[in-house]
Amino acid sequence: MPSPFDLSGKRALVTGSSRGLGYAMAQALAEAGASVVLNARDNVALGAAAQDLAAKGASVNAVAFDVTSEESVKDAIEWCEAEVGPIDIVVNNAGMQHRSTLEDFPADKFDQVIRTNLHSAFYVGQAVARHMIPRGRGKIINICSIMSNLARPSIAPYAASKAAIANLTRGMAVDWAKHGLNINGIAPGYIRTELNEALLKNEEFNTWVEKRTPMGRWGEPAELGGAAIFLASDASLYVNGHILYVDGAFTATV
Ligand code: NDP
Repeated sequence: MPSPFDLSGKRALVTGSSRGLGYAMAQALAEAGASVVLNARDNVALGAAAQDLAAKGASVNAVAFDVTSEESVKDAIEWCEAEVGPIDIVVNNAGMQHRSTLEDFPADKFDQVIRTNLHSAFYVGQAVARHMIPRGRGKIINICSIMSNLARPSIAPYAASKAAIANLTRGMAVDWAKHGLNINGIAPGYIRTELNEALLKNEEFNTWVEKRTPMGRWGEPAELGGAAIFLASDASLYVNGHILYVDGAFTATV
């Protein structure tokens, strides 16, 4: 019997996929049968990631562009659609963190965090939706965070960007569901990646995460894979405008 989770014949673009959660979700989508298009700014790291994934048996293309540049995003999506093929699935994953006391938070860093975590999803989502709408189908997954609902000291701009992308997700669904598109979010808890390097090295913070998370541990990047496959596949056809928390019950407890 055919599986509703099967992604054979689908093409998925995952932004920010040279490492971390993006790479892990691209691998999961490839394991479910999709061909994947990787993205990041650093061409060398991107090439290495593409080679690595191809060596595992995936069908991979890579396109380097900066998700904060509307022009570069448009060019990359047009290139992809024309040269690689139609994009069926997009994961708006590229993101960044900057930590500072809020009273000292540099204005240019505030702009960079918001542009990288929020504007990016609008630019990529809009450019891809313009191709998906005439086709009457498409899956957009925006990577949110437990910080879409919560805040922690020193990351207020990040929390603001993640709250905004969660509601952008709902807004995209409200505007584009009628065209056959599904737009959902994944909100990860604390996951071991380079983004959290400073926190992982901090013993006190580590202990706090382990105590605060009911599952008693950090998540691993591969643990985002199932949620990505679900939201990218026909298994989630009537799921729209939803934020799926993958957080070891972090947001279920006080
Ligand atoms: P990493 O820092 O490990 O990876 C970030 C990826 O995004 C890299 O491939 C990086 O490559 C790319 N990237 C960054 N800026 C840009 C840009 N302007 N244009 C294109 N690509 C870019 O981060 P994570 O894997 O940890 O995080 C991925 C997403 O998940 C982010 O949106 C993050 O906010 C979110 N998230 C992460 C959590 C965690 O615990 N790790 C928890 C909740 C949410 P390059 O620098 O070469 O461009």
